[in-house]
Amino acid sequence: MIEKPYLKSQPNAEGYFGEFGGAFLPPELIEQFKKIEQAYLTIGNSHNFIMELRDIRKHYQGRPTPVYYAKRLTEYVGGARIYLKREDLNHTGAHKLNHCMGEALLAKYLGKKKLIAETGAGQHGVALATAAAYFGLECEIHMGEVDIEKEHPNVIRMRILGAKVVPVGFGGRTLKEAVDSAFGAYMEDPEEMFFAIGSVVGPHPYPMMVRDFQSVVGFEARDQFMDMTGNLPDNLVACVGGGSNAMGLFSAFMSDPCEMYGVEPAGTGTKLGQHAASLTYGKPGVLHGFNSIMLQNEDGTPAPVHSIASGLDYPSVGPEHAYLNSISRTKVATANDAETVQAFYDLSRYEGIIPALESAHAVAFAMKLAKEKPYESILLNLSGRGDKDIDFMAEKFPPEDYM
Ligand SMILES: *Cc1c(COP(=O)(O)O)cnc(C)c1O
Repeated sequence: MIEKPYLKSQPNAEGYFGEFGGAFLPPELIEQFKKIEQAYLTIGNSHNFIMELRDIRKHYQGRPTPVYYAKRLTEYVGGARIYLKREDLNHTGAHKLNHCMGEALLAKYLGKKKLIAETGAGQHGVALATAAAYFGLECEIHMGEVDIEKEHPNVIRMRILGAKVVPVGFGGRTLKEAVDSAFGAYMEDPEEMFFAIGSVVGPHPYPMMVRDFQSVVGFEARDQFMDMTGNLPDNLVACVGGGSNAMGLFSAFMSDPCEMYGVEPAGTGTKLGQHAASLTYGKPGVLHGFNSIMLQNEDGTPAPVHSIASGLDYPSVGPEHAYLNSISRTKVATANDAETVQAFYDLSRYEGIIPALESAHAVAFAMKLAKEKPYESILLNLSGRGDKDIDFMAEKFPPEDYM
């Protein structure tokens, strides 16, 4: 018997990657999620769906995005060759549109009227509002009042794109409450709405579905890197919030002899509340409908988190990352706020590419790794561009201080 390729064999039929994953749902939603899974497995594997998504990627998103050899950064670091997969050049400036277009296309095939989701920093909200405009669907984004204040430009973007932004005013008024609020609204009419989760998290089938939609990043990059260098990369590096851009890159290389590093935000220290390094410091637990490794307080509730990059600010991580880390297929690395700020300026000054603060975590770690492995190559997923971060940086870490 031939062995199924990795993507077809993980997760199992119940949505488990090893012991992680699953679907922990209120009874009213169990049927709904089964329907979504069935729809994804049938429609998502149909010729028409695949062709339409490929067409969108090419003509609307501008894919394939390039792989680029970062020559001046490599020379500056003086070690392994560093290559960037340029997801910052994907339409809307980050990788998130890859899974939003896939989820929205599925919603369209299912005859849904409205896309609904939560957003933290607003990046997922903007990508989903873009997809909704493209397909002519309604879009409702739940966002904590604290985040609405902090991430004003993204709130405006969503409104320009025609989405309704619902402020969430209870509890800590940030991402966790936004998830609870969006889920509550979704439960009122799951027949008409499609819940579009923003990373490889949530109940089955979302971690699988979002990974599959993101795997285009890895499959493109593998071909491009081989074409460019005649070889496979020795190392893969990507930042990990929920883990979608990392899984997108890693999933195409599962059977290859490549070391894979997921970079978590080490923030300002090792105490709870100072970082969001879930795999580094977390324990097994269930949050938002799936079993994974999470940062928790003594009593098992989700711990407060911090990262300079709001897109990495999540107290858990996709179940597939928990699994791949548990079998040592991937390695967990970290970059702290200070290293990330330095990497943000290094990539800007040496390559003319302003990275998202999320992606700058991966750059910071790649620069450390390059020194340790001078004769190797590193392929890094540059998940997004940094335009959204420039006001924050100018105020808190002014360019003049980094000459
Ligand atoms: C949201 C975001 C991330 C973090 O999400 P993952 O699911 O871990 O990829 C990383 N980079 C950028 C640019 C983002 O917008």
